[in-house]
Amino acid sequence: MRPALSYPENVVPSLRFQFCPMCTAQLVREVIFDDNIPRVKCPQCGWIQLSSNAVAVVVVAHSPEGMAAILPPGEAGAGLPAGLVEYGEDPAEAAVREVLEETGLEARIVDCLGWIFVNRASWPGPMIQIMYEAEIVGGQLKGSDEGAARIFPWGELPAISPTRTGSQKAMQAYLEKASGGTGKP
Ligand SMILES: [Zn+2]
Repeated sequence: MRPALSYPENVVPSLRFQFCPMCTAQLVREVIFDDNIPRVKCPQCGWIQLSSNAVAVVVVAHSPEGMAAILPPGEAGAGLPAGLVEYGEDPAEAAVREVLEETGLEARIVDCLGWIFVNRASWPGPMIQIMYEAEIVGGQLKGSDEGAARIFPWGELPAISPTRTGSQKAMQAYLEKASGGTGKP
């Protein structure tokens, strides 16, 4: 039995394989390609671990009345509707789905506000978060297990939770766009 494979700290627990998911042989780490990057591989069947960054979305969803936000329990501030993109799902569709799931509101994407890279060690690991602007076109406000949902009138937006990097960056990107670069909506 070889000693257990160790993993860099930004590898989430669910990707810290010790045994091959295809044939159950004990995995090894070695340089395979001419990129000189040591990779986890199976010496028996040739399986190679090539993990991807997680892909997530965060949405600034607004109507003439204001902006949709959630109030996550136990957090010092609000969050924007956000979540992971499912395997095979278009990120724009994921954005519409997350707004509906977390606020009960129907939204239509009007713009992409860019993306950020968050290199986090906790779940879901390193993540690319795509920021969208959407228009609220229907539905009825309804919270979820992520917290109560509200439409906050412009000028009464609560502070964004300090742990929600994506929500903070999306708000910032939206306000810069809305102000034409002056920082004011
Ligand atoms: Zn194998």
